[in-house]
Amino acid sequence: SGTGPSWALVKKRHLPPEISGLDENYTPIRTYQVCQVMEPNQNNWLRTNWIEKGNAQRIFVELKFTLRDCNSLPGVVGTCKETFNLYYQETDSEVGRSLRENQYVKIDTIAADESFTQGDLGERKMKLNTEVRIIGPLSRRGFYLAFQDVGACIALVSVKVYYKKCWSIIENLATFPDTVTGSEFSSLVEVEGMCVSDAEEEADNSPKMHCSAEGEWLVPIGKCICKLFCCHPCAACGRGFYKSSSQDLQCSRCPAHSLNDREGSWRCDCEDGYYRALSDPPSVACTRPPSAPQNLVYNINQTSVGLEWGPPADTGGRNDVTYRVVCRRCSWDPEECVPCGPNVGYSPAQSGLVDTYVTVVDLLAHANYTFEVEAVNGVSDLSRTQRLFAAVSIATGQAAPSQVSEVIKEKVQQRSIQLSWQEPQQPNGVITEYEIKYYEKDQKDRVYSTVRSRSTSATVNNLKPSTAYVFQIRAFTEAGYGTYGPRLEITTKEETTAAIVSSEQNPVIIIAVVAVAGTIILVFMVFGFIIGRRYALAVKFPGTKTYIDPETYEDPNRAVHQFAKELDASCIKIERVIGAGEFGEVCSGRLKLPGKRDVSVAIKTLKVGYTEKQRRDFLCEASIMGQFDHPNVVHLEGVVTRGNPTRMHQLIIFFIVHLFCSPGKPVMIVIEYMENGSLDGFLRKHDGQFTVIQLVGMLRGIAAGMRYLSDMGYVHRDLAARNILVNSNLVCKVSDFGLSRVIDDDPEAVYTTTGGKIPVRWTAPEAIQYRKFTSASDVWSYGIVMWEVMSYGERPYWDMSNQDVIKAIEEGYRLPAPMDCPPGLHQLMLDCWQKDRAERPKFDQIVGILDKMIRNPNTLKTPVGTCTRPISPLLDQSTPDFTAFCSVGEWLEAIKMERYRDNFTAAGYSSLESVARMSIEDVMSLGITLVGHQKKIMSSIQTMRAQMLHLHGTGVQV
Ligand code: AMP
Repeated sequence: SGTGPSWALVKKRHLPPEISGLDENYTPIRTYQVCQVMEPNQNNWLRTNWIEKGNAQRIFVELKFTLRDCNSLPGVVGTCKETFNLYYQETDSEVGRSLRENQYVKIDTIAADESFTQGDLGERKMKLNTEVRIIGPLSRRGFYLAFQDVGACIALVSVKVYYKKCWSIIENLATFPDTVTGSEFSSLVEVEGMCVSDAEEEADNSPKMHCSAEGEWLVPIGKCICKLFCCHPCAACGRGFYKSSSQDLQCSRCPAHSLNDREGSWRCDCEDGYYRALSDPPSVACTRPPSAPQNLVYNINQTSVGLEWGPPADTGGRNDVTYRVVCRRCSWDPEECVPCGPNVGYSPAQSGLVDTYVTVVDLLAHANYTFEVEAVNGVSDLSRTQRLFAAVSIATGQAAPSQVSEVIKEKVQQRSIQLSWQEPQQPNGVITEYEIKYYEKDQKDRVYSTVRSRSTSATVNNLKPSTAYVFQIRAFTEAGYGTYGPRLEITTKEETTAAIVSSEQNPVIIIAVVAVAGTIILVFMVFGFIIGRRYALAVKFPGTKTYIDPETYEDPNRAVHQFAKELDASCIKIERVIGAGEFGEVCSGRLKLPGKRDVSVAIKTLKVGYTEKQRRDFLCEASIMGQFDHPNVVHLEGVVTRGNPTRMHQLIIFFIVHLFCSPGKPVMIVIEYMENGSLDGFLRKHDGQFTVIQLVGMLRGIAAGMRYLSDMGYVHRDLAARNILVNSNLVCKVSDFGLSRVIDDDPEAVYTTTGGKIPVRWTAPEAIQYRKFTSASDVWSYGIVMWEVMSYGERPYWDMSNQDVIKAIEEGYRLPAPMDCPPGLHQLMLDCWQKDRAERPKFDQIVGILDKMIRNPNTLKTPVGTCTRPISPLLDQSTPDFTAFCSVGEWLEAIKMERYRDNFTAAGYSSLESVARMSIEDVMSLGITLVGHQKKIMSSIQTMRAQMLHLHGTGVQV
């Protein structure tokens, strides 16, 4: 037994400082050092705390230390020593901190076997000396040890204080208890043995043993013998011993961490918290589960995660430690985690890992996971104590899209085939393109051709008639190509006779064919022109599909049915209400169309008792949405405007007819379901939880959707984070389509002087001033959406009033970079907010810039000290920083209103915080009568309030 040296006192001159060093294995150690070798007459003392000796009479003191060779220290001849002295003092109790040298008994002068010669004491590797000294016989209750330095260069590394004893034993059928050794080296302690049960002392020969000073039993004398008539009485072992087989002659002591308090045991029981594996023999120590692995680190590569860790600090006393990994997928709400299931792969294995690493593959893209790594050994499963594991939570990156499997042949001609397909089940990002690979089935060398399409349909031309072709399709996202879907074989139609005729054979027929075709084309052109005039006023761009304003249709019902599929209400299952729209509730549910897999949908309903105008306006959104087909624009599944009502729908009709006396039928718009709802709410809920790349990925999606809409000639007018929906893969899609009436629905929209409601904070100045809505004004709004995204749903311009926002923008102020926003992104926002709309980037350019950023993530790093929120909420150096003023007087001076200083003081406005809370009435009540001055002061107070709010929002004390 020993005591940790808790050093007490140093007499005279120098307190040996506690210093870090390295031992011979380069392990860091703490030492007490003294090295006063230049000065003569050193007498430095270091003393332990009081050590109670218990039963011990002979104490061993083991010292580990280093000592510097005086020859290696230049100019110290005469003063330098190479020894130190070890003392002790016996007392019955602690004696306080005073130290009188003459009360100490010298044990020895200690010299080093090995001294070192080079380097500095504190930093270099030291050669350790070990010396053991013995003190005793001791008679008092305890003692102190003391070290005296007389001018050496020493580092004391450790002091171990212990005594020896003979462990209890059974010998000659007698038990001998634990015995402390005697006080002298030569003394043997005589111990009487106790006969084990069913044994008795031999007459005149009682059992005795002798405990040596080294803790060994010596010289057994006498013995016990078995009692009469007892068949195997002495087989029983005493307490603390066991005999695992009756063949064993000797009882064995219970191994470590085991005990028994019965006699005659064949094995010992494990202490609490310790266990014995089934395969462990009774002779081995009981063991326990290991502690948790240490230093778990991870490395994410798209949808794979590499985990690496260090072995546990405590193996539990066993050498069969392995590791197992538990994977859980978490929803964006961290509470809800479910096991990863069998689709996830582990390399080399999920459990039984001998090495300290594993790779987990086939995780979902953009998903949250937690991984727990547990160290286990042969007794882990026996333990009922809490599992100890190291854990990490990660979010995966993007993966390539899954297979395009549902391909439909829409139209098969002699020389062309039209295909359509469903988006893969796991797009894992924004699909920017599909690649259609095809080849002639019977061609020997299988030369592939490819066609690309940005939508989910394509026509493959220039095929041979009556020929079998094999088609395969794969999707492309930022993460690369997905795997090809299954092969689809299609044979083109046979050639008709007319087409087979060659020009050499019959020029008359060719002329006839050309004439007929020309006439048909002419008729179509004239007809098309009339239809175009009548129904669609939008200008057509060559090569692109063009948006047609449904309001140009005389009969809006025709517009709905031209662009939206009529769904059978019985295919729709409504599950729950998820929101409220302008016209009625928005529900979630499922749509199962014949021959297709069922899909989650959002169902917008038209409230009962609708008027014809409301019905028209409601369906207008479907007429618009139905014209779009892009992965970043919310997809319309169809509408229910007529037809077979289901039981539930009949109920609605009942209500309509009987309660509201309206002849209406249930009307619904069915849209793809976007699990994470509106982008603004989603970001606020997950404030700070995404990487910059993830945020830029979302922005890229929105920009791609807007590029598509602007290419079609559609101007959104109400682009804002609240009108973007987010699905479970973090794909953002533009939604909320409509004409001006949709903006009426927007709570952000307010009436402006030019008439009509406008969401001021998101709208470009020219659109506010003279209703000039264009794709360039959508670009301005997009810049605001960028700001909303990078600030996790912060309200643009905070709580400034709409009028102040309009004024500030007019004066050239712009929103500053949100916190941690890469400068490149803020620059792009500023470009979107150019006053001259011709100077703003086009959506096509925005997508290109964001793509470049995503490809070179270095461009998205925020240099330290740049892009954090500036003090001023709006970017313009001419705006005074009101929060920087120390007093109301200073502020009034800055705005040239110092003449009212006394008015403020008299009314008790002594701090800027109290001023920031003032209303126009408060300002007037100060006796400031000039309207111009009231306005100036009020406008300054509003800016100050915004600045303070902004600072408080980022945790800075005003
Ligand atoms: P809206 O009338 O389009 O503004 O929709 C009202 C609310 O319903 C939105 O704010 C969303 O929370 C929710 N919502 C609308 N469409 C969908 C959808 N396709 N998927 C999920 N939630 C939706």
